[in-house]
Amino acid sequence: MRAVISAGSNMEDSRAHLARVAAEFAPDLVAASSVYATAPWGGVDQRDFLNQTFIITLDDAPSAPRELLARCQRLEREAGRVRDVRWGPRTLDVDIVGIEGVTSDDPVLTLPHPRAAQRAFVLVPWLEIDPDAKLGGETVAGLVDKLGPLEGEQEVRRL
Ligand code: ADP
Ligand code: MG
Repeated sequence: MRAVISAGSNMEDSRAHLARVAAEFAPDLVAASSVYATAPWGGVDQRDFLNQTFIITLDDAPSAPRELLARCQRLEREAGRVRDVRWGPRTLDVDIVGIEGVTSDDPVLTLPHPRAAQRAFVLVPWLEIDPDAKLGGETVAGLVDKLGPLEGEQEVRRL
């Protein structure tokens, strides 16, 4: 089965942080999006984020989702993740957007990710690498259309 990962950084060398995420998932990689510059959420004054989405293969063992979360959190730790302010700057955030065939309302690992459907910086890079992508029964293309003009907090620029 496949999983979709979204990584974002707006501190230090963000390109290098994303490159380490790409290296971690290289053995399982199906597709990596371009890097996008995206406006920060939540009104905290901070630099633009760099965001990138990855599609990877995952074995279908029951433990695979939790192991993937642990891998994402290890990457965040290795980046020396700092985030003092909610919605504030972060060295690296690595989220699981979804895992094919898996739904979960466990707060430790909610699938699909509960906020992905409203975030252009997740949906737009994902659509680039999978034009037929679906999230929670809706097409990602349709979800992007629903967001309307990608301005302000939803601005995404492909680099
Ligand atoms: P956010 O990414 O929402 O800004 P964090 O990265 O700090 O916030 O994540 C907070 C918690 O979210 C983590 O402790 C993690 O266990 C939980 N979580 C729940 N669902 C997911 C998911 N799909 N991907 C990543 N983390 C998740
Ligand atoms: Mg996160």
